[in-house]
Order: sequence, then structure tokens, then C-alpha cells
Amino acid sequence: MKTLTTIADIESHSKTRRRPAALVPTMGALHRGHLELIKCARQSIGQEGEVAVSIFVNPLQFEPGSDFSSYPRPEKVDQEICRENGVDVLFHPRASEMYFEDRSTVVEETALSETLCGASRPGHFRGVCTVVAKLFHLLRPEIAFFGEKDFQQLAIIRRMVRDLNFPVKIIGVPTVREADGLALSSRNQYLNTAERFDATVLRRAALAVKERADSGENSVAHLLAVARETITRVSSARIDYVEIVDGESLQRLSSLNERAVLALAVFIGKTRLIDNLRFQ
Ligand code: AMP
Repeated sequence: MKTLTTIADIESHSKTRRRPAALVPTMGALHRGHLELIKCARQSIGQEGEVAVSIFVNPLQFEPGSDFSSYPRPEKVDQEICRENGVDVLFHPRASEMYFEDRSTVVEETALSETLCGASRPGHFRGVCTVVAKLFHLLRPEIAFFGEKDFQQLAIIRRMVRDLNFPVKIIGVPTVREADGLALSSRNQYLNTAERFDATVLRRAALAVKERADSGENSVAHLLAVARETITRVSSARIDYVEIVDGESLQRLSSLNERAVLALAVFIGKTRLIDNLRFQ
């Protein structure tokens, strides 16, 4: 495995590469969710192709007062995980390498970014789009893999790629979960034992809503009430948002359609977790 940390090195690698590449962008603290993306990347690009992983805790996508400085950075362990899982190239730059001090250009998606996590975390998706655009330029992948756990991020990246004609195919990978349903996330490490138990409420709420929908309830207001009731029964849980939106436009719905997605962001203690569920 090649580990590259500078712009010069990754640019020269991409320029001289003679095989197609699949990219998995991450912020590290790798878990089975990331490994699933790496596995899908390998399956898609084949043994002859190159699987590249980027690990970069992107300061631009952390709003002031959030967990940028405390975000886990187990660099050695991550590097070993990449090596063991057949990654060909690990790009692991420092923030000072990625961003000029006087940088003044950003990539901003202006519709899908307004709702859900975008409303709670101003500037977050501008940071995400800017860094993903830079990674696409630097690594020049034919195909890139993103988790459906961050379904709004996936929708926004697809829109950016469409609107700006990036020559990259975007693939969404289903959410990997713990046995009790909790979606894997690097932030799960912040949870203490009691909170870890309470954190299953996101999945329980989503499944309760799905069950009600499957039994014929079509009203979004009624379905959201089911989710809220389930979540508010857990004392450590505080709802950031619970919404049912169109999976493409991300606009709120009043009744379910075939693209409807339930999206949740819930604080368990101080840790903000997200999850989502498609109705079809
Ligand atoms: P992160 O390191 O949290 O920025 O995530 C990097 C990529 O892994 C993103 O595309 C995420 O959507 C994806 N990802 C994170 N958690 C999971 C999971 N539990 N299942 C599938 N993909 C995930």
C-alpha cells in the first residue's frame, strides 16, 4: 500500500496511474461501515484497478463549537486497517496541506443543503462539497463510494457531480449496523454504556414508523408523531430533527410517496447521531 500525504505526491501518482481508480473518502476512525465501502470499491474496480481511500478530518465541515478537535484520529490503526483490507493508495493529508491560508473559493450546493443536517449545521455541506471536489481533482477516480447512512450528503454529492460535470460515477452503499440496529459511526465512540443502550432509539423509532406505514398509515404528521413518541421516552435523547422528505428533492412531504425517506438526527447526551429509512 502506498501512503501519500502531500498534494505533490498524490498529483504525480494520479497523473502517472495507468489503471482505473475507485475512491472511498473518509474522516478515518475506520469501522465496518467504511470497510463495506472499501469492499464495494474493490468489487467494482476489480483486482486490476486501484482502490484509494482518503482520510481527512476536514475542518471546513465542522461548524464552530463542534467536535473537530476531539474527533478520533487513530492514524496508525487506520493505516493498518487499510493495508489489511487491500487498499492500494491511502491519501492522508494534513489540513495545512489541503488548504491555503488565504483560500477564498468554495463549492456550494444551494438547494438540498438547506434542510435537515444543513439547517442544523450551517456551512457543513459547503465544507463537504469543497473537500470532495478537491479529492476528485487530486485522485481523479472513475468511481466513488459514499454511505447511505449520510443520505443527504450522498444526494448533495450526486447533485454536485451532475451540476459541475465531474467525470465520476457515484455509488451509494447501504448502512452497516450493529446487531441491535445502531448504525455504525465513528461518533459512537463518544457514547458511555448507558448512552450506547439509548442510542438504539433511532433505529427503533424508524422501525416503529415503518411498521405503522406498512399497516396503511400514509399521513406524514401521524408517522412523525410515532417517531417523536418513541424518542421522547428515552431520557438521554433530544430530537434535533425528525422529518419525512422526498428522497430526491429533500423537500418535506405531507403524505408518503415512493421516494419518501424518514431522516432523523438525535442527540444522545452530547453526541449527535443520524439515521434514515426508506419506505420502499
Ligand atoms: P465518515 O468517515 O464518517 O466521513 O464516513 C465516510 C464514508 O463512510 C461516508 O460516505 C459515510 O456515509 C460512510 N459511512 C459511515 N458510516 C457508515 C455505515 N454505518 N454504513 C455505511 N457507510 C457508512
